[in-house]
Amino acid sequence: MREESPDFSVAESGECQPPLNDQILAIARLLKIALRLTAYDEATAAPFSIFQPLIEATQLITGYTHRWETCDPIWKSYLMASVESMGQAQKAWGLGWKTYRILPDSSHLSPDEMFCKNYQDTYITCNHCGLCNGKNQSVAIPVHGAAFKQKAFRETQS
Ligand code: SF4
Repeated sequence: MREESPDFSVAESGECQPPLNDQILAIARLLKIALRLTAYDEATAAPFSIFQPLIEATQLITGYTHRWETCDPIWKSYLMASVESMGQAQKAWGLGWKTYRILPDSSHLSPDEMFCKNYQDTYITCNHCGLCNGKNQSVAIPVHGAAFKQKAFRETQS
């Protein structure tokens, strides 16, 4: 299950916030911070080059994109394609993405996916797991959260 990490985002000016400098990058290397890639809640909204120094300075990143069909393919090496159906997952796999899929329930896990680590053990968080970095394994989790959101998701599945 996704959780909050320290935020580095991109302002309308196109600058990373907080602005990246050598000190921030040195701190990121020293503390081995976990980085969640996001920009306007969608990392690919920013050019990859903006995030690249931070990505290179950190040892653990997680990130997700709904724009996996249209974004710069370089993001495949860092982000998970967010998908809501097996059809979308298979399409994303065909394009070389690892996926993060919401399942109607746990029985829908496919052999090509594993459950989110936090779903298996709530003591495991994204900051320590880091599985969702685009490189490892496709991940899935049964729909969760507010009842109205679960209901709306299930309606998309029928
Ligand atoms: S698999 Fe790991 S990184 Fe991915 S959402 Fe679950 S806890 Fe976070």
